[in-house]
Amino acid sequence: MNYGRTYNFSAGPAMMPEAVLEEIRDEMMNYRGSGMCVMEMSHRSKVFQQIVDEAEQDLRDLMHIPDNYKVLFLQGGATLQFAAIPWNLMKNGKAVYIETGAWSKKAIAEAKKYGEVIVAASSKDRNFSYIPDCSDLDIPEDADYVYICENETIHGLTYQKLPNTKGHILVSDQSSMFLSKPCNVADYGLIYAGVQKNVGPAGMSVVIIREDLIREDLDEKMPIYMRYDIQAKNGSMYNTPNCWAIYCCGKVFKYLKSIGGLEEMARRNEDKAKVLYDFLDSSKMFRGTVDKEFRSLMNVPFVTESAELDAEVVKATKAAGYDNLKGHKSVGGLRASIYNAMPKEGVVALVEFLKQFEAERG
Ligand SMILES: *Cc1c(COP(=O)(O)O)cnc(C)c1O
Repeated sequence: MNYGRTYNFSAGPAMMPEAVLEEIRDEMMNYRGSGMCVMEMSHRSKVFQQIVDEAEQDLRDLMHIPDNYKVLFLQGGATLQFAAIPWNLMKNGKAVYIETGAWSKKAIAEAKKYGEVIVAASSKDRNFSYIPDCSDLDIPEDADYVYICENETIHGLTYQKLPNTKGHILVSDQSSMFLSKPCNVADYGLIYAGVQKNVGPAGMSVVIIREDLIREDLDEKMPIYMRYDIQAKNGSMYNTPNCWAIYCCGKVFKYLKSIGGLEEMARRNEDKAKVLYDFLDSSKMFRGTVDKEFRSLMNVPFVTESAELDAEVVKATKAAGYDNLKGHKSVGGLRASIYNAMPKEGVVALVEFLKQFEAERG
């Protein structure tokens, strides 16, 4: 059906699969005979408990999450996790961070409030256009974890290979790449993601944490909401969770299973991103800003020769129905976020438009 929807290249909140939105619409007034909308339901009801349980099981199936990992659905966005992670995991008060862009920088700034932060590698020298070599990092023996932002949403770069943590726990912010490809959960101590980039509506983070990392000997002053032990014991429902986000994300998990899981999602994402990167590599007007081997499949920043022309292109794309292509102010230029739910046709159409623009102006 044609709803007159735009190809929305927003970095987040972002597009959701149309099939999922239609299902939500159909269940809006009366969820499966319950006589109410999910928004109106008690989180302590049987019908809602089933929604949560299914969402967790479907996510476990999708990612093949081992039994010794807990899955938490938490509020506060990914940003609250910048603080919750050091507060919960810093036993020795020391952690190693890799600085690769705006989001790892924010995580570093927050972690510094809770302990010693060692930035063991950085790509700041070239405005975060590559992932630094992480094969032989200088990691103190007593560091509690090694932290990465696995896909930098603003700068548009991603890891091809996880850092060598030399036996330390790896913590990863997967917000803008969550469920975009298969992930071996056992490689990590903790994975987390704000869901509004690649999964569902804003207002929730998924935290996947290895059980033995959940501590109880925590700072007394720590807000109870931020304690992983309390959240895990209470099945993410110590207090009222973001019921609506859990419900919508659960639908997306089911949808991803139905199309063939994360292997198929990765295949589609690679195919889709290639269309845009091939164009950027062949264009004389536009070029990508990230070193080829570290290019993100999800966020594609690109520029012309001048800020004036960049602004003109943004204006023209918007007028033509391609929304949210303005680059983040710290990078400038343009950025196309092409998450899971962006159809290939959207990318093909954008590329056609940019080609035309270049032909007319070039
Ligand atoms: C958007 C984003 C965040 C912040 O998410 P909020 O839910 O707005 O707090 C953190 N990390 C990455 C990689 C992001 O893309």
